[in-house]
Amino acid sequence: MSNLPEQVAATARRSVALGLNQGTSGNISARAPDGLLITPSGRDMTAIEASEIVPVGMDGTFPDGMRPSSEWRFHRDIYAAFPEAQAVAHAHSPFAVALACLRRDLPPFHYMVAMAGGVDIRCADYATFGTQALSDAVIKALDGRRACLMANHGLLAWGGSLDAALALALEVEALCGQYLRASQLGAPVLLNAAEMAEVLEKFKDYGARD
Ligand code: 13P
Ligand code: ZN
Repeated sequence: MSNLPEQVAATARRSVALGLNQGTSGNISARAPDGLLITPSGRDMTAIEASEIVPVGMDGTFPDGMRPSSEWRFHRDIYAAFPEAQAVAHAHSPFAVALACLRRDLPPFHYMVAMAGGVDIRCADYATFGTQALSDAVIKALDGRRACLMANHGLLAWGGSLDAALALALEVEALCGQYLRASQLGAPVLLNAAEMAEVLEKFKDYGARD
């Protein structure tokens, strides 16, 4: 893949192939020199082409005749809040939605919860899709984290690349499925603060190459 709009479009299509999105649900963006490049609003995620990817400035401006994802505000606000964020993936994936409809944080039932950067993965307060209120709720839930659930809505993840953001979104979806399944048999045993602190320390160079 040669250029950023193509990579954003391909990541949107992959999010469907991976079972994270369906129909027009979800959106993907990448940081650009003076703002972001984001998927268009209301389009079938499997059919998105590079030519439809919308440039949005940090001031929220975009070209006449193009319609960026209704969620451009939280994508923009994540790039403003987290200098290391290079891409954002938002999804309405089944297990994350199920947990988010209970408005429950994902607790440290499994050490991989630390992949999002902390001891839990918070569920952001509910707000209508596409609003600044939703962006504000998401930024609050992301404090010290690279992912969160969104009440009665879905999940989002950011990363240092499109691949990293999508991989974290997939990991959070897997964790939600594991937690919901374990919860059917009782209350999962949670890792304690010391156990999670050890994992968070190990994750500082997990997967790093010399
Ligand atoms: P868009 O099609 O506007 O990106 O909306 C999809 C979505 O997931 C809203 O939260
Ligand atoms: Zn959504």
